[in-house]
Amino acid sequence: MAFVLLSGCQPPASGDAAGMRYPILYMQLQKTDLPTRLAIPVENIQPRQIQDTWGAARSEGRKHEGVDIFARCGTAVRSTTQGIVLQVGTNHLGGNVVWIVGPDLSRHYYAHLEDYAARIQAGDWVEAGEVIGYVGNTGNAENTPPHLHYGIYMQGQGALNPYPYLVPDS
Ligand SMILES: [Zn+2]
Repeated sequence: MAFVLLSGCQPPASGDAAGMRYPILYMQLQKTDLPTRLAIPVENIQPRQIQDTWGAARSEGRKHEGVDIFARCGTAVRSTTQGIVLQVGTNHLGGNVVWIVGPDLSRHYYAHLEDYAARIQAGDWVEAGEVIGYVGNTGNAENTPPHLHYGIYMQGQGALNPYPYLVPDS
């Protein structure tokens, strides 16, 4: 399995590596549309507790490419979709991160994790709602309250605002 080193909130160049273990499931994901509603990725968080911070200013002139969901350190983080784990690793900004490739080969980025779910590794199949890690403040969140940074990247389109997928009628 190729290990992809990431710098910041960028999707990996290719999700092809994940297809080696589950080629048929990977092809099915490719043919499935991303649902318009996604499961909330943090345990016991209600839609009204989520703020839309898409595009907000961040360090070094960057724009916020995702949604931050604040919760106690150690709160379970759950996959918003079914898919295949692309990477369980670390990067400078995100700290401990998990990448999952989901429907329509969307890439789902879970960052600042305190820890990963036990035994999760690249190539694993996950269902929506499956625990993949725990909320923390690793990476550039070390001076902020613990939160999950969640991002969605579409093939050929770059980052999408996850907020409307998590908060209905927003
Ligand atoms: Zn964030």
